[in-house]
Amino acid sequence: MTKAPPPHLLRWLWRGYLAPHWRLLAVAMVLMAFEGSSLALFAAMMQPMFDGIFVEGRVEALWTVGLAVLAIFLVRAATSFGHRVLLTRISEVTAAALRGDLLAHLMRLDGRFHQDNPPGYLIERVQGDVAAINKIWAGIITGIGRDVVSVIALFAVALSVDWRWTLIALLGIPVLVTPALFAQRYVRRRARQAREVAAKMSTRLDEVFHGLETVKLNALEAYQSARYKALIRDRVRTETRAAAGQAAIPSLIDVMTGLGFLAVLFYGGAEIIAGNKTVGQFMAFFTAMSLAFEPLRRLGNITGLWQSAAASIERMQAIFAATPSVTSPARPAPAPQGPPRIELAEVHLAYDDTPVLRGATLTAEAGRMTALVGASGAGKSTVFKVLTRLVDPQSGSVTLGGVPVTDMALPDLRAMFSVVTQEAVLFDETIRENILLGRTDISDDRLMAAVEAAHVADFLPQLPLGLDSPAGPRGSALSGGQRQRVAIARALLRDTPVLLLDEATSALDLRSEALVQEAVARLSRGRTVLVIAHRLATVREADSIVVMEAGRVVDQGRHDELLARGGIYAELERMQFRDAG
Ligand code: ADP
Repeated sequence: MTKAPPPHLLRWLWRGYLAPHWRLLAVAMVLMAFEGSSLALFAAMMQPMFDGIFVEGRVEALWTVGLAVLAIFLVRAATSFGHRVLLTRISEVTAAALRGDLLAHLMRLDGRFHQDNPPGYLIERVQGDVAAINKIWAGIITGIGRDVVSVIALFAVALSVDWRWTLIALLGIPVLVTPALFAQRYVRRRARQAREVAAKMSTRLDEVFHGLETVKLNALEAYQSARYKALIRDRVRTETRAAAGQAAIPSLIDVMTGLGFLAVLFYGGAEIIAGNKTVGQFMAFFTAMSLAFEPLRRLGNITGLWQSAAASIERMQAIFAATPSVTSPARPAPAPQGPPRIELAEVHLAYDDTPVLRGATLTAEAGRMTALVGASGAGKSTVFKVLTRLVDPQSGSVTLGGVPVTDMALPDLRAMFSVVTQEAVLFDETIRENILLGRTDISDDRLMAAVEAAHVADFLPQLPLGLDSPAGPRGSALSGGQRQRVAIARALLRDTPVLLLDEATSALDLRSEALVQEAVARLSRGRTVLVIAHRLATVREADSIVVMEAGRVVDQGRHDELLARGGIYAELERMQFRDAG
């Protein structure tokens, strides 16, 4: 654990996010400096006010002193307003940039990373940690721009009155150092814990809301509430401790100030009584010291804040330091034209020590439909992932039209596939947006043609806003069959040379099923299709069937050939396929 905040963190933040705004920052700091020095001017006015007006009774001094004080406060009002607005703007803009970069980076990272770091945790990183960082640097800049200037200017006033008084007032500082350092380390540790708990809380919420039906069906409400409450207790404890550590530093400054005042009062009071100093001088000194107090406390607070921000920055840097293992090659090969032949040869893939593909070898002919069959867990979906490079195998070759998938740029590679899976993932947007996925080059006619062909048009009349009805979170406003049809419409518009299709395992109602099949048949035309088949009708129609078992391809052929050979396929046919054909 480091005592002082590591300077490279601050440098990282500055270079990446603040430096581009240095002009605005400079203006804000100048305004802050004005605000900061106004207090010292005010303190300096105490001397003419007391000596000139109150003691000597000079009426004309009323005007000069009064107007000067008014001017000081007007400048202060204008400058503090200005720098606050500027700083808020800069901090919002930089937070937006940091969040944008984080999101972009997170989307590039591997499935592995996302398995280790659940969504709730990452949401907390993007939202909570960025907010924490923002708060601290706004604090640091205001500290440097305004509070340091205030303190220096106020001490200058105090020193101009009497340097010995100033020294006496500051006698307590050395006593302050050790406890302050100790408090800082404590805050850092607690702040880390607090961020950790916050992330766990987000993860819990995310899981509860995503699995709400499971929670209800299994009567897990009390269980989930209890788990969340336990985290809340943790959070209350760590946050309170972190805050206590943070509050300790300004409190130490209070103690020091109180002692300083007492000493000055005794020493300075004696000098005034002896007639060596005027009341005005004492008042100017006293005001300067009392006003120095607040900015000093705030500066003391910054170190505590910094400790807590450093915990957030470290975590964020750890995320930025994670690199994706699936990347585009430096000099990508062009993607093959037209529907490609797909080949996997001796592909081995393991998650940690669990082998998932164990030398899988298969071919899907160009422009034909190849069915993948096999028991659940055999590795069929993993074949899709390897083709689209959601994950790279440890060994073996994967080629499309003879081009290894790793030789193509990732966007080019993925542009070759439409993936329609049973959990057709829709976004919480309208159906139209879910089909278009941000594309603006699609004419309404083309869109409507796809909507018709995918049989989405059939259920639109039942929806209140038709194509502009919301799909609900993860498409929950639609039925399984409807979701699939939306995904098919999406795929029709993508118009890719390869279609990867995962048939629904659970039976849709007959009509829905027939509509989906017809839509799929339209979508399949003229493409290389790889389908994870659950229906007998599909395997019968397929040009070739690949039989998988435990990460290997154990047979490949047409339905009748495979049946004739008996073995695994014959068994699968008996156990697995749903319809009567
Ligand atoms: P299928 O589609 O044939 O049902 P999958 O390809 O989905 O099979 O999965 C094959 C095996 O790989 C399963 O045993 C599954 O538990 C395992 N698996 C899949 N994804 C992961 C992962 N991210 N981490 C660890 N194991 C995984």
